[in-house]
Amino acid sequence: MHSWQRPAVPSLEALGTGEGTRPSVHDVRTDARVVVPEGPTASMYTCGITPYDATHLGHAFTYLAFDTLTRVWLDAGIEVRTAMNSTDVDDPLLERAARDGVDWRELAQRQQQLFRTDMEALRILPPDHWVAVTERIAPIGDAVRRLLDSGDAYRLAAPDGEDALGEDVLFDTTRARRFAVGEGSRTDAAQMLELTREFGGDPDRPGKRSPLDPLLWRAERPGEPAWDSAVGRGRPGWHVECTVIAMDELGAPFTVAAGGRDLRFPHQELQGHHAIALGAPLFSMTRLNAGLVAYQGEKMSKSLGNLVLVSKLLAQGARPAALRLALLDHHWRQDWEWADDELEAAEQRLDRWLAWSTTPDDDPSLGESVVPWLRVTLADDLNTPAALQAVDAFIQRAPADAGSLAAIDALLGIDLAAVAAR
Ligand SMILES: [Zn+2]
Repeated sequence: MHSWQRPAVPSLEALGTGEGTRPSVHDVRTDARVVVPEGPTASMYTCGITPYDATHLGHAFTYLAFDTLTRVWLDAGIEVRTAMNSTDVDDPLLERAARDGVDWRELAQRQQQLFRTDMEALRILPPDHWVAVTERIAPIGDAVRRLLDSGDAYRLAAPDGEDALGEDVLFDTTRARRFAVGEGSRTDAAQMLELTREFGGDPDRPGKRSPLDPLLWRAERPGEPAWDSAVGRGRPGWHVECTVIAMDELGAPFTVAAGGRDLRFPHQELQGHHAIALGAPLFSMTRLNAGLVAYQGEKMSKSLGNLVLVSKLLAQGARPAALRLALLDHHWRQDWEWADDELEAAEQRLDRWLAWSTTPDDDPSLGESVVPWLRVTLADDLNTPAALQAVDAFIQRAPADAGSLAAIDALLGIDLAAVAAR
């Protein structure tokens, strides 16, 4: 499906400042700092939204983190390829649609459009490929077929009392593969079970070889959407859909599998297992997790009713650049809690930057620039709070110059001239 409009990213190299450096980031798979990518190209798959509660600040924070990474890569002369999914058919979406009495397709379309508008306002770089799961039913069914054929998956009848028009297909996590379940995510057995339950993995379902085995394919149930496939009529499971879309778009291993920290287990872990069972040497070289955003003491979630929506803040008059600054003021890997006064502080910061940007430079020969400060802070595990402080300090001592203005746009996504013109 179509993505959203790509904001212009100025080239700093064209301004004579050379190339930026490749960033080092904290990789969750190996629990180590790594420089990514190793070579001249980078590919990133980001887990997308389930389109029923777009776009809260938790979403915006996650996609902004990987937008920052992409910007640092581009500045370093890296060729970047990106892909993202939209889980446009899944239990939470269907439940929401049923509760609200709307068609699930309409709900998904509407939320995807809202997400596009929000991402565009925040000047988040769009993925090269934004793929809806309903666009990839056949290849996902084919992959599940291959997992059945290789013995990595098994069929299981629907639980007693549940009406199904065929058998489900589950992934066998007990089969010995190159690495054990849990490795790389540093998750212990009790935690894995708990997280499996929390993320709809149904660990207590009778007949499973392991409580951790996830659904690869859900056989058709009366009244639920279903498609024909190589494994019968039904719809795909959550983990395998991301696995197949990522491998189809980027090949495997690609450079970075990205998502919020709540996706670490079981979602990202199982993607890795599925990919290896499908014959990939590895799913991704690195796995990056953005921190979670809480509000009023709880994780932001629709069920708790504590969502802070990007669209609502913008409708109330927040400038998108200020919202961007408010989010960038938190380190991408940290969990944090949104406070209502953060936006006001960011608006004030934006005003200070704007005042600086519109004051003419009397003596351009001074030649100082914020470019190296932004590059050094961002290459250090995308330290955006330090990058913002570097700009704060810089504008105290130096006039606005073309290079600094371009760097604030290219690396932080804040086009001060455009904000001033509004
Ligand atoms: Zn995913």
